[in-house]
Amino acid sequence: MPIVDSIDLYLVQTPLPAPFSPAWVVKGTRQTASYYLIRVRTDDGVEGFSAFSATGRERAGSGDALAQLLLGKDATDIDHVIEMLRIPAYGGVRNFWVEPAFWDIKGKLAGKPVYELLGGKAQRVKLYASAGEVKQPEERIEEALARYEEGFETLKLRVHDFDEAVDIRHIQEPALALEGKMRFAVDCNQAFWYTGNGAGPKWDLARAKRFCDAAHEAGLAWVEEPLFMEWYEQMAQLAAYSKVPISGGELHTSGYAELAEMVTKRCYHIFQPDAMWTGGIQQTLAIAKLVRAAGLKYTNHTWSNGIGFAVNLQVFLASGFASEMEFEYPLSPPGWTMEARDAILARPWTHNRGALDAPTAPGLGFEIDERALAHYGRCFFKANRKKALWMPEVLADLTVAAPLPKR
Ligand SMILES: [Mg+2]
Repeated sequence: MPIVDSIDLYLVQTPLPAPFSPAWVVKGTRQTASYYLIRVRTDDGVEGFSAFSATGRERAGSGDALAQLLLGKDATDIDHVIEMLRIPAYGGVRNFWVEPAFWDIKGKLAGKPVYELLGGKAQRVKLYASAGEVKQPEERIEEALARYEEGFETLKLRVHDFDEAVDIRHIQEPALALEGKMRFAVDCNQAFWYTGNGAGPKWDLARAKRFCDAAHEAGLAWVEEPLFMEWYEQMAQLAAYSKVPISGGELHTSGYAELAEMVTKRCYHIFQPDAMWTGGIQQTLAIAKLVRAAGLKYTNHTWSNGIGFAVNLQVFLASGFASEMEFEYPLSPPGWTMEARDAILARPWTHNRGALDAPTAPGLGFEIDERALAHYGRCFFKANRKKALWMPEVLADLTVAAPLPKR
């Protein structure tokens, strides 16, 4: 039985080539891709990795609980790992993001990609380009043409204005300009309200309905996250009303229990869970099966970091939807590029004419570039079965780069 012998935690920050202002963070601009990385090693030296978005030092204290709960355990007993990860959640810190590291180990021990362990097969995945910023229509059209030239057929854009007429113009004009060339989808980012830096637009059901009418008229492929994520009843009403598919699901951190209920209620036409938030690989894949049984659609959310992308790709390849749905490919130059985001991976997840071949390497399908990790990452916690080691000097300085003022 492969035993969990050590756990290391890092904060990784890779610089972006230009400031990036995500639509979902009011007045927020990022200059790095920032995330916590976990390295789990077995007594035979097999390593598994996973990662979760960082905004500050919110996971700096996670080492104690993870070490106590996981060291000395069977690294391939995923059910038990999930059980252990639930425990700190009762105190408010959800750690399902750690679970994929154990699948990484399991796949490497079996010599197979994780999707194969889960019943999927190697295939080419069609991607849609996922833009992260709100843009004026002229700029958006330019961006859409660039993605079209690169081989993408679908672009997901963002709206986030107080004035709904502006939002509607932001979908209509690009759709009209590229009619017959490119499909558009739109993410309204209403599932959570990140208002730490100031107020943002908050939609109600009436506004969401009017927007969906406009999106249908403009021929959009789907409308994502048009309502606050806990408004299950209103979401179901909107989904029943809308002539354009409603999608969402990335942020439901209660995992299977919450999303299963949402499938029953038919809150979305297209479920887009993200394994890093929605319960890890096992729970998220179980959702895909429920979605299929309900006659609904499924494709993973992937917008976090290169490891989150890899994990969701594995789930997607095992989901049974990989031949019929496009997979999210975050791309928002000049700020958000694969090369910058994936700086600690031996190979960034570079697309090939809007598609990606399934990785065939055992485990989660990526390799850590240790030199790059040493450069961009700071290890702040190390534990093995004998001792736990905190790095106080790293911890004292463990903050993400200060946010820039919005452009
Ligand atoms: Mg979204």
